[in-house]
Amino acid sequence: MAATYFSKRNLQFLLHEVFKADELTKYEYFSAHDRETFNLVLDSATYIADTLMQPYLKDVDRNQPELKNGQITVHPKIKEYLKAMGDAGLIGAGFSFEHGGQQLPEMISACVGFILMAANNGMMYTGLTSGAAHLITSFASSELSEFYVPNMLAGTWQGTMALTEPQAGSSLSDVTTSATPQPDNTYKIKGQKVFISAGDHDAVDNIIHLMLARIDGAPKGTKGISLFVVPKYRKAEDGNFVDNDVISTGVYHKMGQKGVPAMHLTMGSNDNTIGYLVGEPHQGLPYMFQMMNEARIGVGMTAAGIATAAFYAALQYAKERPQSRRLNEKNRLDAPQTAIINHPDVRRMLLFQKSVTEGSLSLLIEAARLFDISQVAEGDEKENAFLLLDLLMPVAKSYPSEMGVQSVSQSVQTFGGYGFTEDFPVEQLYRDIRITPIYEGTTGIQAQDLLGRKMTMKGGKAPQLLFAEMSKVIAEASTFDDLKPYADQLTAELRRTQEVMASLLPHAQKGDIERYLSDATLFLEMFGIMVVAWQWLKQAVVAKQTLLTQNPQGNDLIFYEGKIHTMKFFFHYEVPKTLGLAQRLKDTEVLTIVSEKELAL
Ligand SMILES: Cc1cc2nc3c(=O)[nH]c(=O)nc-3n(C[C@H](O)[C@H](O)[C@H](O)COP(=O)(O)OP(=O)(O)OC[C@H]3O[C@@H](n4cnc5c(N)ncnc54)[C@H](O)[C@@H]3O)c2cc1C
Repeated sequence: MAATYFSKRNLQFLLHEVFKADELTKYEYFSAHDRETFNLVLDSATYIADTLMQPYLKDVDRNQPELKNGQITVHPKIKEYLKAMGDAGLIGAGFSFEHGGQQLPEMISACVGFILMAANNGMMYTGLTSGAAHLITSFASSELSEFYVPNMLAGTWQGTMALTEPQAGSSLSDVTTSATPQPDNTYKIKGQKVFISAGDHDAVDNIIHLMLARIDGAPKGTKGISLFVVPKYRKAEDGNFVDNDVISTGVYHKMGQKGVPAMHLTMGSNDNTIGYLVGEPHQGLPYMFQMMNEARIGVGMTAAGIATAAFYAALQYAKERPQSRRLNEKNRLDAPQTAIINHPDVRRMLLFQKSVTEGSLSLLIEAARLFDISQVAEGDEKENAFLLLDLLMPVAKSYPSEMGVQSVSQSVQTFGGYGFTEDFPVEQLYRDIRITPIYEGTTGIQAQDLLGRKMTMKGGKAPQLLFAEMSKVIAEASTFDDLKPYADQLTAELRRTQEVMASLLPHAQKGDIERYLSDATLFLEMFGIMVVAWQWLKQAVVAKQTLLTQNPQGNDLIFYEGKIHTMKFFFHYEVPKTLGLAQRLKDTEVLTIVSEKELAL
């Protein structure tokens, strides 16, 4: 039996009691499902996670992929895992029946991702394949879709996202990989890609890259980038598969997530890499951006999953580790040592981890729900869900990642010296989670997206929608005497954000965008705390209602009371941080804009 690495109880609470997942089945698209089928899918993911993933957490980390003579070998369990995921239909969980999927809501597929990543994030292969296959089903011809997608969803072909180049990381407009049109409507691809996750390995029969490249003569910048399917092996005219000249030039030796090879790939060294255009020329970035919400929910879930696993390891350790006496018994040396969970400072660390991880998961399920509604609803409902999702996306990617790093750091701290050793999993999880604020758009880039675009798009309609949603929760919470102070505090947070915006906007109106965005990351941090406070109040309202109407007993009673306690912790310990952030954001003195003298040696 695997150790506890996530709480099934909490997942059920969020999915069914707070977000009422089965309400999605009222939409025609999801009508084949009900609560039972949702839970069956989660059980099937848990079974794979328990048997094929979590037991190999350390082994996959210690036996990282190796590149020898151009061949990359990964841990043998990866192949078994991919087959199990394909057989269970979990790679295609979110795909339509038409494309061989299960037509499940993102709310459920995202939670599948959470379970898998909590179990073993070093086996992060299938999310990449789903993302790549989704690009094909959404934008490519039916010919490409019919050829590539079934093998990808079966787990026998790997999908990748091949965007980054040595000079084009955050700035994808600088992509230079070239695509030269051929008489048969294919393209010859030439260039290099770096950091391509699962970009080559021996656990599958083929690798299908969804690659950004520039067609010869295309306009400069973002408007000239196209999307291609570039396989490792392509089908020749005689029906045989031939090598497509995508060479694995290197594999990065990383700090964490060591089970997944991050590849340096070279295309066209023998002038023989063929790519197949996806959709229209020059639409590569818009296509990618349409897929980004799912990918960013995926990264948020990875971070939330890793931090959750670390939290449960720390919690178990804190209950078992005797050290010192309680503060009020310090001088009674004859008294037995107490378990460290009884020290207020250790409880603070554990409550911090619980508040960050469960707050993050709640926000991500909220985002996934909005994603689903934006896909299947109509009219205003669809548009509003889309706008709100767009606004929340930078937060749903960054808060779990940035705060997850801090949370796992506190997990290591809870273990004391043992946390720094390889005897416990937290040192690995600390290394693993560090990538999440970097890939799929760094925190700095997410912050500019939030403040530079999302806060102001459509005349600020998105934040208005968010504030309206928050006000509903505030109104519900205000009906309970013990929740009212927190409802009032959230109202104050909302006003604080509006005040900060009012002080920043004049810079944008004057056209001084560098000044407007100079502290965007601090704005994202402040905004993130407010958004997660909203999520905590939302959970507390449901817990309170359940306590009053259902009189739960035993573990259920502890669970609901624990929710309200953790909400209070978040409001007392985390929310006040916004005061300092707001003060900084309103400060007229800016010390980070480029000048000659700063950062001189
Ligand atoms: C393990 C791993 C897996 C990856 N997997 C993939 C993959 O599968 N596919 C893929 O295509 N890519 C992948 N990447 C690449 C990843 O997406 C990039 O590393 C990331 O986008 C950052 O790009 P960069 O490394 O070039 O950093 P840079 O863009 O050079 O950024 C360096 C720093 O400068 C900041 N910065 C840059 N531009 C700005 C700006 N305009 N304003 C403010 N700050 C700025 C950044 O926030 C960052 O702090 C992976 C990377 C790693 C490490």
